[in-house]
Amino acid sequence: RADVIRELALSEPVTRDGVRVVIRANVDIPEESDYGASSGAEGVGLMRTEFLVVGRASMPDEEEQYRAYTRVVKAFAGQTVIIRTYDVGGDKLPVGGFPHEANPFLGWRAIRMCLDESELFKVQLRALLRAAVHGDLRIMLPLVVTVDEVRETRQLISECIDELAARRVPFRDDVPLGVMIETPAAAVACDTLVRDVDFFSIGSNDLVQYMLAVDRGNANLAPRFTPFHPAVLRLMAQVQATGAAHGIDVCVCGEMASQPLAVFALLGLGLRQLSVAPRAVADVKRIIRGVRAEVAADAAQAAMACSTAREAEVLLRRRLRAEL
Ligand code: PEP
Ligand code: MG
Repeated sequence: RADVIRELALSEPVTRDGVRVVIRANVDIPEESDYGASSGAEGVGLMRTEFLVVGRASMPDEEEQYRAYTRVVKAFAGQTVIIRTYDVGGDKLPVGGFPHEANPFLGWRAIRMCLDESELFKVQLRALLRAAVHGDLRIMLPLVVTVDEVRETRQLISECIDELAARRVPFRDDVPLGVMIETPAAAVACDTLVRDVDFFSIGSNDLVQYMLAVDRGNANLAPRFTPFHPAVLRLMAQVQATGAAHGIDVCVCGEMASQPLAVFALLGLGLRQLSVAPRAVADVKRIIRGVRAEVAADAAQAAMACSTAREAEVLLRRRLRAEL
């Protein structure tokens, strides 16, 4: 059984009708990267950098960050590694916390905090530009709602480039910059972002939370927290279509991409790049290799036309079972 799982994990993620999917790993701490690299994933689709902040009393300096990012990039030699800038706030807090807020998930967090604390943000950006020398590192911004946030970040990156050049340390000045699509505003108006970003990555955890107004961490609401709501599926289809029309890669890096039934739905919505928990790689590949993309597309169309998440989920489950 272990051998079968191992073989599956290392197999190529191609559907029965020949559609190739890219499966990358989610990495939360650098120490996970060795396991991630041997999991059968092709690179990192989401490296969260909150480990550098959460539970610590002071922020890490540029050297410590440079070493952490370099470690991950080297573990995935020759493969894409997407590193997300600080997504601090909401459920991810440093020691001492943040100023009290009535609604932390709608509060001063992630890219908002980084742009307000630009010196702190620039330490991270410089470390990323330096680590990019070692491989295909890409930078991703969390919780974006407007293209202004991307433009402000690009301005800070160009300042970082000048600073690094003056210090004469090796760095790259052409690191791709992408955004998480995890707010309804970014998703609905993703066409306003296409000229300023290099890729999209759908964060289903927050996108579901904000679209359905359901706290992602509230156990009493767990049954209501579902990516199968037709509104969620339809919006993801729209993001995928807009990205494709403008030559922008669209990946999915939320938990949804690690769940077999949701993988079937995402495949059907046209998504071809998933970033998943390393332990889920084999299971995700099992679904991809077991189905036809054409059948998934049909099922996704039908799911989007359903009235409720429950109906969509039942329908998808039935179609998936018939296909496997
Ligand atoms: C998401 O929101 O889907 C996501 C991948 O980011 P996080 O879970 O870290 O908020
Ligand atoms: Mg998120």
